[in-house]
Amino acid sequence: MSDSVLVYKGSELASYGFGDPHPFGFDRHDVFQDELESAGFDGAIQYGKPRRASVDDLLLFHTADYIDMVSKKSSEGRGYLDDGDTPAMPGIFDAASDVVGTMLAAVDAVMDGTTKRAFVPIAGLHHAGRDHAAGFCVFNDLGVAVEYLRKKYGVRRIAYVDIDAHHGDGVFYGFEDDPDLIFADLHEDGRYLYPGTGSAEETGTGKAKGTKLNIPMPPGATDTDFHVAWRRVESFLEDAKPEFILFQCGADSLEGDPITHLCYTEQAHADAAAALCRLANKYCDGRIIGTGGGGYNRKNLARAWTRVVQSFADAG
Ligand SMILES: [Zn+2]
Repeated sequence: MSDSVLVYKGSELASYGFGDPHPFGFDRHDVFQDELESAGFDGAIQYGKPRRASVDDLLLFHTADYIDMVSKKSSEGRGYLDDGDTPAMPGIFDAASDVVGTMLAAVDAVMDGTTKRAFVPIAGLHHAGRDHAAGFCVFNDLGVAVEYLRKKYGVRRIAYVDIDAHHGDGVFYGFEDDPDLIFADLHEDGRYLYPGTGSAEETGTGKAKGTKLNIPMPPGATDTDFHVAWRRVESFLEDAKPEFILFQCGADSLEGDPITHLCYTEQAHADAAAALCRLANKYCDGRIIGTGGGGYNRKNLARAWTRVVQSFADAG
């Protein structure tokens, strides 16, 4: 088992985006990789190559009708996949399949012992539902990864932790009644920000009641506010004792993002990543995958994601 962090890199991942002037541009991948390279990690990281998901992989989470619709609209290459946030770019089907496939490659690498900790920068597309696109997200790589971990490896109790400014509604509602999907999400209060969901009262349904933790944060929340809320996430995860951690570390919760109103610094991301690695070492044989998620201020995403990789590398 290598202690180095496996970071995924490649033009296939960079091709997921919507071009200028959409906030989710094609440049986000390279901006991060450049920052990571200049941080000089040397032997602490290794690089993995993207891989394309098959339709059978997508079907683990998504409906056949939805996959067909994306395929058709991607060939037409015009209009939107949703109400106006997620353009039907030419080739978006392949690009979105590359994001999912790369997540599954990361799962395989962690489960076969190639590495304990992996990071996929262009991934964490947490708004896509089982049968719909939403909020710049076409296929939900996280949802597919959960189902893949269960089917291929028999890993049941998976913790999903999300510090993106937006609520991870695609994951939340995809597993709302699933007691084995442990869900913790700190996000800007839905009264002020898309998608409007994730109130504290939403704790899961049926047998899953109490397995989901939603913490809405007020606009302007700082690192101090983050750390107070984060203590609840840690004790929630200590109680849940997951077998695997998926981390969505969207950088749009940092001050200066053009489309949100939270005011963390990248220290929040570094601290959250370090805490999750401690929990992963305690309960999950170290196994954790980080995904970039949102983040539309380029400097912020480059710094926040690099600090997450740094925390992964320092976790031992
Ligand atoms: Zn976001």
